[in-house]
Amino acid sequence: MVLVSDLGDSIISDYPLRFVPVAETARLILTDRVYKGELELWPTEECLAEQDELPYVYNYLPLEEYVCCVLASEAYPGWNHQALSALAVAIRSYTLYNLGKHREYDFCDQAHCQKFLGFSDHPSFLAAVNQTRGEVLTWEGRVINAVYHSSSGGHTRNNEDVWGGDPAPYLRGVTDFDQNGQNYAWQQTPFFKVSDFSTVLDLKGSGGLVITPSFNMEGALIGFAFRHRKNKAGREVSNEELRRMLALPSGNFQLYHFDREDLTEALQGGNLVNLGAVEVNQDDLTIQAELNLVVCSRLIQETVILSPDEYLLFIGNGAGHGVGLSQWGAQAMGEQGHTYQAILRHFYGRVPQLTKLE
Ligand SMILES: [Zn+2]
Repeated sequence: MVLVSDLGDSIISDYPLRFVPVAETARLILTDRVYKGELELWPTEECLAEQDELPYVYNYLPLEEYVCCVLASEAYPGWNHQALSALAVAIRSYTLYNLGKHREYDFCDQAHCQKFLGFSDHPSFLAAVNQTRGEVLTWEGRVINAVYHSSSGGHTRNNEDVWGGDPAPYLRGVTDFDQNGQNYAWQQTPFFKVSDFSTVLDLKGSGGLVITPSFNMEGALIGFAFRHRKNKAGREVSNEELRRMLALPSGNFQLYHFDREDLTEALQGGNLVNLGAVEVNQDDLTIQAELNLVVCSRLIQETVILSPDEYLLFIGNGAGHGVGLSQWGAQAMGEQGHTYQAILRHFYGRVPQLTKLE
């Protein structure tokens, strides 16, 4: 690694470098991202091979500053103060519950853990962090895994329906208020030819595709069993797994089927065609309108057998896994005058206590 200062000083190193700020106001800017606090740069193999790659960056931050940075990366500064405060408590709780998620470091900067786009001390986010400083949700003497997501699409989901495992009493599906949020409606309508879909699922055998939906106790669709007609063995896939496999915005969708009549050019583009991404012209708009008309009557609500040249269409709402606090739902509740405590009680129920850390 070669680091050169504005004054021409340079440091050349094959070893990790640690930057320790000497003043509270010290910031380090790396590829458009502002960092505060201690920073370690570790050369990657590509770095050492002089392939112009960036080193690994590890940033050490105190809890409250990290919470503020995540809040700034996950939310908008114009959001309701109570909503931001509720989210700050969720982020703080999630952070403490999941410390060391990556073993050698605590969190990555992606949605896999929590989004982190660098340092922020924007007044909106700082106010929410300060109002709730040290506050976390606890249950049975332990900080809870306060997961959150962008928008559930009308109803949040039970943790076991999404990830399996034991039901957590504080992660029950509840009504959401995200209908006016940016991520409520899917921007795209993905569809697959049945034969291509079987390939994606890596299903053995041939013949028609047998699809059986499964529902939880409350009647919410949580997954499907897929198998070929001539093959007893198949595959059970949850909505959440389908979301990941097919890069769908959320697991809150219904599956429709239709056959190819009336659809020609729009279906030639490959395995997965997003109607929302098709160029907007008169024909495509007509096709989309016809599609909606055709598929509405063919919602898969019980076992169906589809021929390989039929199509499957995913129509859904929301963004993210749908468990725990819904950010757009919290924003709507805040705007309706609810306090951050009430917002947290709505999404995590009455089981967890709001506790201030020592
Ligand atoms: Zn991660």
